[in-house]
Amino acid sequence: MKIIGTRCNWVGCASKSVFIIQGVPYCPNHYFRAFEKHFLEEYNRWDRRTKPPEEFFKIFSRYVSFIYGEGAIPGALSRARIRDRTYNIRKTEGGLTFCIVRHLYAWTDYKWTQEVEQFFKFTVDETRLELLS
Ligand SMILES: [Zn+2]
Repeated sequence: MKIIGTRCNWVGCASKSVFIIQGVPYCPNHYFRAFEKHFLEEYNRWDRRTKPPEEFFKIFSRYVSFIYGEGAIPGALSRARIRDRTYNIRKTEGGLTFCIVRHLYAWTDYKWTQEVEQFFKFTVDETRLELLS
């Protein structure tokens, strides 16, 4: 969907919109804050006893990518890795934890030689992602 010529939906802003979040237009200045709000709504909606919906992984990975910038995400993660390879995701007090399996290469021949499970923690208030183990 592409909306052309509309104005930012952020209260009090009259800038031209460039970005769309769930059909709602935002200007570049308010896009991150609007996306953050969207993430927090989805996070709060998530019933911790269940696995979050597929959509949550897209939102979370995008959010982390926004915070750090692609290429600078802790643990050398990428948006795609978080979106596609996250498992054992758990909602915690103030955040979430998840696992990702990494494939380590041998230096001698570039074959996958070892799979390592990494454990990450994301703290919502601090918008911080940490590799715990
Ligand atoms: Zn705006």
